[in-house]
Amino acid sequence: MYAINLTSKRYAALSGKIDTVIVPTGSFEAHGMHCPLGTDILIPERMCRDLEAAAGGDFLIAPTVNYGYTPTLAGFPGTVTIPAETLISLYAEIGSCFARWGAKNIVFMNGHGGNIAALTLACDKIATAGGTAMVISWWATYSAEILKICGTQGHAGEDETSAVLALDIAGAAGAYGAESGSLVDDAARNVHMRKVFCAPLSGPTQTAARYPEAMNGDATAATREKGEKLYAMLLEKNLEYIGRLRRGEYTDPIA
Ligand SMILES: [Zn+2]
Repeated sequence: MYAINLTSKRYAALSGKIDTVIVPTGSFEAHGMHCPLGTDILIPERMCRDLEAAAGGDFLIAPTVNYGYTPTLAGFPGTVTIPAETLISLYAEIGSCFARWGAKNIVFMNGHGGNIAALTLACDKIATAGGTAMVISWWATYSAEILKICGTQGHAGEDETSAVLALDIAGAAGAYGAESGSLVDDAARNVHMRKVFCAPLSGPTQTAARYPEAMNGDATAATREKGEKLYAMLLEKNLEYIGRLRRGEYTDPIA
């Protein structure tokens, strides 16, 4: 259920029955020269639409936090970056408010790596306010499953570009009035098979080393079919993870 559509009265009536709020978090930033600036917004929103279609009555989907922390890509045209300190407060306040209105669990459905540190700290603040908060960063949380579908991962690389390609046929592009039929500029796809040897690693030349043309990985290997498989897997795993959270199954045995 989308919280944005509810009246305050209806929210009050539901708040005791729906225990979990999902907050999509994205970033508005360069994704290579071939993927849209809104890639990290569009993918988590698609994941939420799939969850809504599969089990919509089970949780509330909150409005998306569209902007994120992305100093590394700030030099590429169109990128907007928000200070991490601001985001920690923003995420924590959003989660704490939903906790105050009855949500037991907050799930941040995150589309952007730069947000992870701020989200982690915000989760601790939400816990202090009495809520339980979890972050799902799809490409990281489910990396092992992704690598059964895609040969490689990367920023605007094979996995992420595949996920954007699959949005085209799902009609997601139309939701924001895309200019053309495809969100991906095929002619601008590229390959940059480099990543830092140890992360976190930050420095004045890291953007050029890690993200030439605002991407890494192999965008030429991306396909719509891989994207469709990714969304099917992501739905299954998200249902599993959110189900575990709702049941309070927080731990696995240490192997
Ligand atoms: Zn991205």
